[in-house]
Amino acid sequence: MYGYAGRILMVDLSKRKVKSVELSESLIDFFLGGLGGNLKLASDLTERWVHPYSPDAYLVLGVGPLVGTMAPGAVRVSAVCKFPLTETYGFASGGVVFGLMMKAAGYDHVVIKGRSKKPVYLDVFDGGAEILDAGDLWGRDVYDVTEELQGRYGPCGVLTIGRAGEKLVRFSVAIMDSCSSLGRGGMGAVMGSKNLKAVVVRGEGGVEVADEKAFSEKALVTVEEICSNPHYHMWVRFGSMTCWEFRTGLIKAWPCDGWRGLMPGKEAETLFGPKVFVEKVKEKTLSCPSCPVGDRLIAKFTGVEEGEVCMSQFFGPAYAFGARCKVGDGGKIAYCYYLANKYGIDYTTLASTVELVRVLRRKGYVKVEFGDDGFEETVNLIRAVSLRDGLGGILAEGPVRAAAKFGRGLIEEVVNVKGMDPPLDGRFNFGTEAFEVIVNPMGGHYIPGFSPTFMIGASTSKLKKFCDRIGVPKDAIRRIFVPYFNVARMTRYVEDWYALLTSLGVCCRQPITQGYSVFSLAELYASATGIKMPPKKLIKTGERVWNLLKLLNVREGFSRRDDAFPERWLKEPLRGGNITMTLMDYYRSKRIGVDDAEKLLDDYYAERGWDPESGVPTESKLVELELASTARRMGVIE
Ligand code: SF4
Repeated sequence: MYGYAGRILMVDLSKRKVKSVELSESLIDFFLGGLGGNLKLASDLTERWVHPYSPDAYLVLGVGPLVGTMAPGAVRVSAVCKFPLTETYGFASGGVVFGLMMKAAGYDHVVIKGRSKKPVYLDVFDGGAEILDAGDLWGRDVYDVTEELQGRYGPCGVLTIGRAGEKLVRFSVAIMDSCSSLGRGGMGAVMGSKNLKAVVVRGEGGVEVADEKAFSEKALVTVEEICSNPHYHMWVRFGSMTCWEFRTGLIKAWPCDGWRGLMPGKEAETLFGPKVFVEKVKEKTLSCPSCPVGDRLIAKFTGVEEGEVCMSQFFGPAYAFGARCKVGDGGKIAYCYYLANKYGIDYTTLASTVELVRVLRRKGYVKVEFGDDGFEETVNLIRAVSLRDGLGGILAEGPVRAAAKFGRGLIEEVVNVKGMDPPLDGRFNFGTEAFEVIVNPMGGHYIPGFSPTFMIGASTSKLKKFCDRIGVPKDAIRRIFVPYFNVARMTRYVEDWYALLTSLGVCCRQPITQGYSVFSLAELYASATGIKMPPKKLIKTGERVWNLLKLLNVREGFSRRDDAFPERWLKEPLRGGNITMTLMDYYRSKRIGVDDAEKLLDDYYAERGWDPESGVPTESKLVELELASTARRMGVIE
C-alpha cells in the first residue's frame, strides 16, 4: 500500500488486549485518513451520551497519507475524543516526530478504549504493541516522562500527560514530543481517566510512495512556493510573532481583563513584543521533519528558575500570559508556558481561569491570594489547578463550571461558546477565525491561522486568491463577496480546507499552507498513493469530514441554539486608553448587532446546506455527501 501504513491498532485497556486490523479501502476513499479517518472510526464505534471518562469512551489518533513523506510540513497527528470541558466531540492536531514514528511503527490510526486498573503506557512498535506498567511514571511531569521513555527506547515519539491529566483537570492536555500540546478540551483527562500515562511510537518502517519521481518534483515545487512567499523570511525569524505586525501592530492594543479591556500596544511591545522575543526569548528554532520553515523554538525562560523550553509558538502564550494574566516580560511568559506544559494544562483556559479568580476576588466570593503580581499569581494557579489544591479543585472543573459553583449569574463573566472559552475576541478582528469560534462544533475554538482574515484588513483580492487556491466554486465566491464580504459564508470553506489538510496530515500553519493549493494536493496525493482523486473530490471529502464532526455533535444534542455569539461581543465594547472596539464586520465598516449575528448564522447554514432552524445537516446534504447511512446508523436521522 502506498502512502498509507495500511493498519489500524485497536487497543482495549480494560482487557489489556491489542489487535491490528486492516485499513479499509472505504475509509481511505471517503475520509482519506488523519482527522477524517479518526472521525469515521469514532462515529462507527461510539454510542450517544457516553461520558468522556467512561471506559466506553474512545480516544482515536491518526496520521494522514502524506505523513512520513517529503511533502513539506506533512507531520500532523490528529486526535479525536469527547471532551470533558464541553462534552462535545472535538479534535486536536500537532506534530513533531510522533506522526512519522507512528507511520514507521506501521499504523495509520491507533484506537484506544477501556480503562486499565493500574497506570499503564502503550508501546507501539514495528507492527506490534504492548500495554506496559506505568507505576513508575505516574505522578511524574511531562518532561521527565518524555525523557525517561526516550532514554528507554531511543528515537521515538512520545505523547504523555502530566499531573493535570492524572487529576482529571477538565482542560488538561496531552503533550507530544515535549513540545506540541493536544486537546484543550481535556484530552489529558481522557487519558488520565483510562489510567493511560503515555503512548510511545517507534519503528523502522518507511513510507513508500507510488510514483517517486512525480512526487519528489511536486514536493520540491511546493517547497519553492513556501520559500518564495514574501513573508517567508520574516516567519523564519519571528515565527508566529509575525502576526504581531498584522494584528496588534495595526490596532495598537491587546484585549485583556476578561475580554473587557485593552492593553496599550506600546506597553505590550516593550514587555513581550517582537524585539524582546528575538533578543531575549528565542534561543534557536527547530523544524519538524520535512518542514522548510522551522518555527518551533527553544526559548529561554526566567522567573522562578532559569532554563530552556521547546515552544510550538510564542504569539499565543504572549497573548494569554502576557496580556491576559499580566505576567510581565517575555522570559516569564516562557516560564509560564514551560510550567503549563510540565503539568499538562491548556494555557488559554488557564488565562480565563486567572481572570475569573480576579473577578471572584473583586466581588468578594473568594479571599485567597495567589500572589503579589500577575506572574506569581499565574504560577501558583497553574500548580493549584493542576494538583486540584484548595480552590484549584473547583477551578479544575473549567471556568464555566467553576463560575456556576459561585452563582449562576457569574457564568456570564466567562466568555464562552458551548462551554469553551475562545482564545481570541471577535470585536478585535472579525475574520473567519472569530466566526469559527461561534460555529465550531467542538466549542469556542478556532482552527489554526491560515485564513488571510487572521490578519487585519487583508484586501478582497487577497481573500479571493485564497478562495481560488482552496477550490471554492465560482458561484460561492460570488456569494462570499457580493454585495459585501460575508465572513460566515467564507468560514464554511476554510473549515473544509482545514479538514482536508488535517486528513492528509499537512501542518496548518500559515507559512506552510500558503504553499499548497487543492490542485497541488491532488497531484501529491495521487503520486504518493497511486489513487487518483481530482481536486473536486478532495474538496468534497473535506466537506464530508467536517459534516461528520457536526453529526457526532448533533447526536449529542447540539444544535443552532449552541452556536451562540457571546453576549459580551454583541453588547459591550472593548475599551482601553482612547480606543473603543465594538463588534464590526471584517473591514470595520458596519456594526454587527443581534439581528446581524442571526443573519450571519443563517448565511453560514445556507452555505453549508444545513437546516437554518436547527443548524444541522439536512438529509439531502447527507445523501449528497454519502453520509446518510452513517447518520442513520448513528441515530441522527431515521
Ligand atoms: S510550520 Fe512549524 S509546526 Fe508546522 S511543520 Fe513547520 S516547524 Fe512544524
